Parts: sequence; C-alpha cells; structure tokens
Amino acid sequence: MKIIIFVSKIKKIEVMRKVLKFGGTSVGSARNMRRVADIMEREDADLTVLSAMSGTTDGLQRAAQLASQGGHEEEIAGILGGLKDKYTECARELLDGEMCEAADKITEVFAFIADELAAYGGERSQKAVIAQGELLTTALFTMFLRREGRDAVLLHAPSFVRRHDDDTLDMQLMVGELARLSCGGGRRYVTQGFICSDSSGALDNLGRGGSDYSAALMGAAAGAAEVQIWTDIDGMHNNDPRFVEGTFPIRTMHFDEAAELAYFGAKILHPSTVQPCKDKGIAVLLKNTMDPDAAGTRISNDEQAGPVYRAVAAKDDIIVVRIHSARMLMAYGFLRRVFEIFERYRTPIDMITTSEVSVSLTVDSDCHLDDILRELAPLGSIEVERGNSIVCIVGRLDHGEHGLAVQIMEAAGDVPLKMISYGASHRSIVMLVDTGYKVKLLRNLNEKLFAGHV
Ligand code: ADP
Ligand code: ASP
Ligand code: MG
Repeated sequence: MKIIIFVSKIKKIEVMRKVLKFGGTSVGSARNMRRVADIMEREDADLTVLSAMSGTTDGLQRAAQLASQGGHEEEIAGILGGLKDKYTECARELLDGEMCEAADKITEVFAFIADELAAYGGERSQKAVIAQGELLTTALFTMFLRREGRDAVLLHAPSFVRRHDDDTLDMQLMVGELARLSCGGGRRYVTQGFICSDSSGALDNLGRGGSDYSAALMGAAAGAAEVQIWTDIDGMHNNDPRFVEGTFPIRTMHFDEAAELAYFGAKILHPSTVQPCKDKGIAVLLKNTMDPDAAGTRISNDEQAGPVYRAVAAKDDIIVVRIHSARMLMAYGFLRRVFEIFERYRTPIDMITTSEVSVSLTVDSDCHLDDILRELAPLGSIEVERGNSIVCIVGRLDHGEHGLAVQIMEAAGDVPLKMISYGASHRSIVMLVDTGYKVKLLRNLNEKLFAGHV
C-alpha cells in the first residue's frame, strides 16, 4: 500500500515562545490598546493574556455586591451604564465605522450582566458577572487585531484553565490544550487572564489581580521561553511608588525575592505568579506599556549580586491574634494545636512570634476568623488587633553578616514596631506596625537603606 503525505498540508506546529500579559491600564483605552497591538508585533507574541479594561472588575464587583443586598436598581444601572459607555467609546475609536459586530457583542454582554444581577443567585452569579470584563475586553481587542489584518485567534480561557474543588488547577488540561496550538508565522493568540472554570464548568476566577498568575500558568504549561508582564510602570521598584517618592526600578531579581515582595504587597505582581515560572526556570519580565523601551525588571533563578538591600513592600489589613496561655510553659504540642485550627479553616499565617507563655500570629483574612477564635478559646486568653500593616525588607540578609539588624532598626527610627520576624529566610526581614505608621516606615527605610542606590 502506498502512503502519500502532502507535506504542504501538514501544518507546522511551533512551540510557544512568548506569553505576554497586559493589565487593566494597558488596555484601558483605545490608544493604549493600539500600543498593546504594536508591542505584540515587536515582541512577536505567541499568546497574549489580557485583563479587563481598568475599572471594570471594581465596577462589576460593586454591582454584584449591591445586587446581593437586594434593591439598588438605580445604582446598579448607573454602574453598568457607565461601563457600557466606556466600552462603546473604546470600540468606536478602535473600529471606526465597522462597529456592528462590536456593538452587538457589547449589547449582548451587558444584557447578560443585567439579567444575571436581576435574578441574583449568590456567588455563582457574582463570578459569572465579574468574568465579563475580561471576556468583553479580549473580544473587542481581537476584533481590532483582525481588522488590522492580523492573524488573531481568541481563546476562551475557562475551557483550558479549570480549578478543582480543592483549589488546585487542572494542569494536564492546560498543557494538553495549549500544546494543540499552532504558533509562529505571525499568529497571535489572545485570551483572558483572571478567569477560569470550576469543576462543574461554571465561570470562576483566580482572585483579584490574578491575570499575572494566568499568564505565568499558561507560560509554564506551554513551556514558553519567557513570560512578560506589561503594566503602567517600568518594572519592580525598590519601594512602593504610591507612597514613597524617589523609588527606582530594579533591573534583575531572583524569583524568591520577587515572591516575597509580591506576597508582602508589591502590587505590580500577583503573589502566585512566581511559582509556576520558577519551577520551570522561565524568566519573567516586568515591562512598561507606556514606555516599551525602558529596561523593566527581569526575574529569574540567577543569584543576584549588588546592594544588600533590594526592596521594601507593605501589605495592609493585617490582623494580629495573640494567644496567652500558662499551659504553653515548657509544653510541647501547643503550637501544633494552634496551627491545626488555622489549617482547618484554610487560613494562612503570615508572621509568628512566640514567648514562653504566649504566641502572636498574623493573618490577612477574616473570612473564618469567628470560627477560628471560637476554636482557639479553650487554649487560653485570646486578643485580636486589627488595622495593622506588614512591612517587608528584601535583600541578601545573610545571618552571619555583622550590623544588619542595627542598620535596619536605626532606619526604622522611632516608628513603634509591634512584631519582627527575622531568620526564617536569609532574604527578608518582616515587621508589623500600626497602619498609621506604614508610610512613615516605608519612607524612613527608603531614606536610610537606599540613599544613593539609583
Ligand atoms: P496591572 O493593572 O497592569 O496589573 P497593577 O495596578 O496591578 O497593574 O500593578 C501596577 C502598579 O503596582 C503600579 O502602578 C504601582 O503603583 C504599584 N506598585 C506597588 N508596589 C510596586 C513596586 N514595588 N514596584 C512597582 N509598582 C508597584
Ligand atoms: N481584572 C481583574 C482585577 O481587576 C484581574 C487583573 O486585573 O489581574 O482584579
Ligand atoms: Mg495587577
């Protein structure tokens, strides 16, 4: 039997090299969407992951919250009307006269949102509604790319990003689906960040700011060479630019440094982003959509030379739980009992300090706090303090180094420190302060530990 293979008919499937992610501001207007399209070409992006246009998720979340309370029809209509106008204006600017398909899409999405909110069915409706921002933004952006003559293909992220009931992700599904894509030759795949499906197939999400995580997961699943996170600032700065003047971008970082900073509040990166790329050794670049030529920050597994102090970040809404118990004195197994309670309620502990008769720990979520406190009560007397912030200094804080603790304490100045955690890793020292002192501490540290570093 003769087998004839028409080579020309075999599509060349190239592996995915670059995954690019653009945040809300980067796709927040027609002008910025055009920048994104240019960057995709110059980077030869295989897969581009988009957030919703800035302000969308906040608005939809607020509308869902109002719907959950019942009533508020006028306020909800106001929010949806504002968002609809924003999308319509953007589409009109991007697509000029050829608005029909876009106008139909916008009408369809906002009608779906209004219906879902009118017959509000709890968390399921909330998740279906807040997913619409990413779905609409990617749909309009893909229409624009096609109109520009690009070979753009829109992928529905929930069909390959699926979360199991235990919160783990179905990586096998993602790897399999992404492996089927035919990359190269100018093809531009576009998909949604942030959203996924749950085990029943319903719309779900990866948590606020989760588009960075989506891109990292997709890059890791596809075995990409690089993941680029494009935002509105030129890389990870040494301190929080929202509160401190004179911050500067850090050119290169180790994954572990980036992970600590993201976890402790550096908003530029979702805290879960690092792990998938670190595991696969895929470099992550943080770049500025508004200034594509700026170097940005490269995060990799390479050990970093350079100054001892690398960066500072802060996280708010930290709750301290203090457990005071004479039974802890010389006893073993006490901490295990405490930890088991937090584990049962899937509540991570950020900081912990212990003395002979008490233990203080911090959490950043009060979702299950009442249950946790009820179960802790038999262990001793419990105090709860809200309104705190964690400030984390990241650097090469080798434990054998002389004088680091003195330098840091002197830099903190007269800011009252409620807790300090040092020694768990040689990369960070973490301090807890009343939120009222957060900005002062960030500024003090910037002035004393980073002066002249730029
Ligand atoms: P996107 O919508 O693109 O995901 P985000 O608002 O989530 O953007 O993150 C970018 C913002 O993070 C910046 O505009 C900046 O204000 C803030 N930010 C906080 N800490 C840092 C830091 N250490 N370095 C850079 N940006 C930071
Ligand atoms: N749009 C989502 C949010 O605002 C996800 C993201 O921006 O990463 O949280
Ligand atoms: Mg973000």
